[in-house]
Formats: sequence, C-alpha cells, structure tokens
Amino acid sequence: MAAVPEPSLILSFEEARHLVEEHAARLRPRGKELADLLDSAGRILAEPVTADRNFPPFPRATRDGYALRAADLAQLPATLDLIGEIKAGAAPEKSAIELGPGQAVAIMTGAPAPPGADAVVMVEHTSRRGDRVEITKGIAAGDNIVAVGSEAKRGDRLLVPGMRLDHGAVAAAASVGKTHVLVYAKPQVAVLSTGDEVVDIDVPPGLNQIRNSNSYSLAAQIQMAGGEPLLLPIAPDEPARLRELIADGFEADLLLLAGGVSMGKYDLVEQALAEFHAEFFFTGAQIQPGRPIVFGRIPCGAGAPAREGSPALDRYKYFFGLPGNPVSTMVTFELFARPVLEALAGMALRKLVFLHAKLKSEIKTRTGLKRFLPAILSGEFERAEVELTRWQGSGDIAATARANCYIVIPPDRERIAAGEWIPVLLR
Ligand code: AMP
Ligand code: MG
Repeated sequence: MAAVPEPSLILSFEEARHLVEEHAARLRPRGKELADLLDSAGRILAEPVTADRNFPPFPRATRDGYALRAADLAQLPATLDLIGEIKAGAAPEKSAIELGPGQAVAIMTGAPAPPGADAVVMVEHTSRRGDRVEITKGIAAGDNIVAVGSEAKRGDRLLVPGMRLDHGAVAAAASVGKTHVLVYAKPQVAVLSTGDEVVDIDVPPGLNQIRNSNSYSLAAQIQMAGGEPLLLPIAPDEPARLRELIADGFEADLLLLAGGVSMGKYDLVEQALAEFHAEFFFTGAQIQPGRPIVFGRIPCGAGAPAREGSPALDRYKYFFGLPGNPVSTMVTFELFARPVLEALAGMALRKLVFLHAKLKSEIKTRTGLKRFLPAILSGEFERAEVELTRWQGSGDIAATARANCYIVIPPDRERIAAGEWIPVLLR
C-alpha cells in the first residue's frame, strides 16, 4: 500500500502560504491566444505592450487658459498680446506659430502648446480685453504643459507580460492602438467533490443528503481567478471510484478535491492520492476554518499526462485537498489554491495583503490558530468598519453568503476590543 503522509506536516499559515508561493513561482502557463481588447478585462497579458509614439505626442496643455512664456510674468499684473487660439485637435499649422516675448495664445485642455510657450496660465487668473490679456498670477516654466515623451517615449514598455488586465492596463493598450492583445490560455482546473452524503444540485436530496455546493463555489472562484473549471462527478467515499475520478482530474492542469481530508474513517482522499505517488508538502495548516488543507503534487507519468505544450520543467501535476466544510473550501481556495492557479494562468506572483478596518464589536476567541472568519465590511469612505457575521461554524453557508469579507485574527489574540483596526481579507 502507498505511504500516507506523516501527520506532522501541519504548518503555520505563513509557512504554508510561502511553500505554495515557491511552487507557484516555478509554474508556467499552457499557451497563448488573441483576445479582443473589449473582452480582455481580467485576462493575463502574454506580450509586452510598447508605446508606438511619444506620450504625449505633442506638448499637451492640461488647463484651459493662455499659453505664454513664464518669464513674461516677472512683473504682475502682466499684459500680453493675444496672437490666436489653439483648441484640442487643432490642425498642425495652427499650433506651429512661434510665440514671441510678450505674446500669448488662448489654449484649451488637451491642445498642443505652440513653440516658444513654456507654460499655461489658468483662465481663472486672467482677464481678457480685446486682443490683449491681463495675467494676475505668476507661474513657473513647465506649469500646466506636459512635455513631449515625458509620460513614455516611443518604444517604452507600458505593460509587461504576466499582469492581469484591469481598466488601467486596457486604457494603455487602447492608447497604443491595440484592438487585440495576446493573453495566456486559461488553465483547466478539475474540481472533485467527495462524500456519500453529497448529491448533485439538480436532484432532490434525501433527508440525510446535502447538495453539492462546493463544486459550484469553487467553479466561481476558479473563474474569478482566471481558470476554466471542469466539474467531475461527485466521488463516493469508496476507494476504487475515487481513484478513477482522481485519475480523470489529473488530466487537467490542476486538481482541486473537496472533502475527505479530515481524520474520519471515510476520509480517503490522501490514501487515494498516495497511490498516484503523491508528494505531500503539507496536510494541514494552523488556521480556522480549513485546518485539514492538503497540498501536493504527483509526477507526470504516474497516471497524469504531461501538460500540453508545457516546458520540461513542468514535470508535475499539482493538487489541493480542500476540506469539505463549505466555508473551509472557500477560504482555503483563496489562501492557497489561488496562487497556483494564477501561476498556471501566467500571472506574475503577487503577495497576499490584508486591508484594515475598524472593528465594530468586540471579538473573543481562543489562541493557537490564525482565523479567517466571515464578516461584513461596512462604513463609508475613510471609515471602513467590520464585524463578524453570526455563524454556526464552517458549515454555515447562509452566514457566508451574507458576508463580504473575512476578518483575520492572529493566533496569539484572545480578545480584540471594539474600535481596534484589524486586518480583513476582501472577497
Ligand atoms: P469532509 O471534509 O468530507 O469531512 O466534510 C465536511 C463537511 O462538509 C461535512 O458536513 C460534509 O457533508 C460537508 N461537505 C462535504 N462536501 C461538500 C460539498 N461538496 N458541498 C457541500 N458540503 C459538503
Ligand atoms: Mg466527507
């Protein structure tokens, strides 16, 4: 019989997370494809995006006002001769007229400043009298004009491969005229829920049966993280069928199992994985919920075909055995499975950071585990407030559905007073 992992592979949260990050850093995405820029939000960029011209391409006025020579404002008020007007999108001849000393042109935001002008004074600090303008406020050379190429020079990299395309990145791609961007193919992530009591959601459950929510919450999380979920049939607590389904799961780029990883008599997942020559990196983390989280890999060839197009370096298929309690499944996906999925999706590794909010009402707990408890973030603007949802433990789907974040409680805290700023993991 294959070796089951040592029970001692229980790590602190930070150790477990770092271990996952180390492995994730070695993983590569499967392939590349072209995406329409309009459909590219959330995808991972697979090519550098470079500036096709200088940014800005002309000295751009950033205010409505008058373009002039700052040196002409040594004495205030100063009266300058108006020699024209330049609006945004003006024909090149319009903006080519050289501005002499003592002269100004009316100019609009986004318009090119003419040669000779080195600053734009805001219209609010001026009064116009026919073809002359009186300026009441001095400014420095360079004010309210963005110099040619000062944001980016032609050929500069604006976006690097491995970044997730958000609206800022999409703006940069649009600004260099990319209608399509090369992105990484989405990794396929197999989801295998286990348990004799678990039934498909399209059949009426018997009294002692529960519907399979985990495969669906995981599918949602996989999609949000940039993967393609592949839901396998529910595995019974029976070794042969479980093994068969695990073998199917290893066809995908990553396998997520849910349930069957605790110490119960019918928790067969680790034993089944051991039969695929699995290497276990940890079989538990000092967290709540989600303590029995399992992370490991199997060598390709031991029942798992190599990933298509994968470099030689990718000789393993990774898996997570997530605990079956629904909240544990959700939390452990976010804390541990996500970085591996993101790496397979081509995303550059990023550290997990928690934000802070003010605790609304006191929390009392026990020391020893780092806790990630369902909570509600509220308040407004700079006053983020947070409080725990009332819940019946890590099986309480209803409480988690009401929550919009998790409060993070360090393992050495027994009591956190109302009013304290505490870390939260956003959802
Ligand atoms: P396990 O990790 O297999 O011991 O399961 C822990 C708890 O989670 C049990 O109460 C299970 O009934 C429940 N559970 C396991 N799998 C699922 C699932 N796919 N959907 C909903 N609840 C589940
Ligand atoms: Mg079970």
